[in-house]
Amino acid sequence: TQIVNVIGAGLAGSEAAWQLANRGVQVKLFEMRPVKQTPAHHTDKFAELVCSNSLRANNLTNAVGVIKEEMRQLNSLIIQAADECAVPAGGALAVDRHEFAGNVTEKVRNHPNIEVINEEVVKVPEGITVIASGPLTSPVLAEEIRQLTGEDYLYFYDAAAPIVEADSIDMDKVYLKSRYDKGDAAYLNCPMNNEEFERFYEALTSAEVAPLKDFEKELYFEGCMPIEEMAKRGVKTMLFGPLKPVGLEDPKTGKEPKAVIQLRQDNAAGTLYNLVGFQTHLKWGAQKEVLKLIPGLENVDIVRYGVMHRNTFINSPRVLNCTYQLKSQPTILFAGQVTGVEGYVESAGSGLIAGINAAQLAKGEKPVRFPRETALGSMARYITEADPNNFQPININFGLFPELNRRYRTKAERANKHATRALDALQEFKSTTNI
Ligand code: FAD
Repeated sequence: TQIVNVIGAGLAGSEAAWQLANRGVQVKLFEMRPVKQTPAHHTDKFAELVCSNSLRANNLTNAVGVIKEEMRQLNSLIIQAADECAVPAGGALAVDRHEFAGNVTEKVRNHPNIEVINEEVVKVPEGITVIASGPLTSPVLAEEIRQLTGEDYLYFYDAAAPIVEADSIDMDKVYLKSRYDKGDAAYLNCPMNNEEFERFYEALTSAEVAPLKDFEKELYFEGCMPIEEMAKRGVKTMLFGPLKPVGLEDPKTGKEPKAVIQLRQDNAAGTLYNLVGFQTHLKWGAQKEVLKLIPGLENVDIVRYGVMHRNTFINSPRVLNCTYQLKSQPTILFAGQVTGVEGYVESAGSGLIAGINAAQLAKGEKPVRFPRETALGSMARYITEADPNNFQPININFGLFPELNRRYRTKAERANKHATRALDALQEFKSTTNI
């Protein structure tokens, strides 16, 4: 069995290394932090979550819940660690980010088949290699990848939400509640009346934004659009988007406020909260002014300001197979955000497949194609079969799954059918392949 190189110990690389190592393959895992940092990471831990601490929905009525369940059944490191480090978040799987990254780091470092090498990879090594260097791939490696794929990079920018200190929130003004009272009451809600909303809206749309370079403009990914940009699209975009009040009646009045800003617990101790959907590119001073206008946050202490970052990904529909192998050089595999999957769980999911397939190659066996009916398979098909001229990273959703053979009356019934079909297909796949 050959040794396999994995570049990057993020969500995808850690998962790929784990899948390889558990199949008896020796892994060299390269990670440049802390020798060299990225613009978004703060620690030297593996699988550091750079923005939200939520891995999103955890139930099977949501596609991201289905992919989690498939990953659980394939002994996913990332999902196991997340389950072990979960904090209350209604129907979502959110984690204490420090515990989570610590848990992953320990498991990876202690695995007898994984050797960790702390250096920046500037040249893709010889032999079977999984490239999982993420949306903030170091520039030298990015250039290597550009040469390797023969395709020009696409650059665009994501945005991250501010995190605030819990004990600086005015608890008399906010209330604990999950939308429609689903799951545990995990969110703190800041209610706004008409006047408060108008004042906030006015300040947000006129606040000063940090300057963007020419080529960065208008490149926001829709799923992670800065709040000020969304606000500029109109009041309704806000009230039907991140500030929607439905299902969040204020216990003081018994009524839905005009608008609600939700705060999500960010660490197990409950000392930090992040502003849900509040990714922003506002200048730090401006962020402070705008946040002060949110009821309950008048005196809030901001521990991390919202920021924006580059996102690097390859044109997968042109260069990758759904096995995550490079078409032109099948001993090189890609995984994670750099393939154009979007999100923590999706990145880890792609790492899981790339790890399994790199192990197949190392053992002289054929890489596998995950069934289309599964979430993992649908995602692999999407990134490799989408229109290459218009390729947009996307979170997993039921729209990526093959159509069902009949129509269902409700969304829940449809979701249920997708989930059952996916998990059945995975069982069948596991029993008929040697993975
Ligand atoms: P990463 O987790 O970034 O891992 C890549 C690793 O490779 C890093 O540890 C890096 O240090 C290392 N590396 C890079 N270059 C080299 C090199 N040359 N040599 C050695 N090591 C190298 N997704 C969500 O689901 N929710 C969010 O809230 C969210 N917010 C985001 C906010 C920002 C600012 C960004 C940039 C992305 C965000 N994402 C979010 C998207 C994405 O899910 C995460 O970035 C996720 O971490 C991607 O996983 P990955 O394994 O592909 O990359």
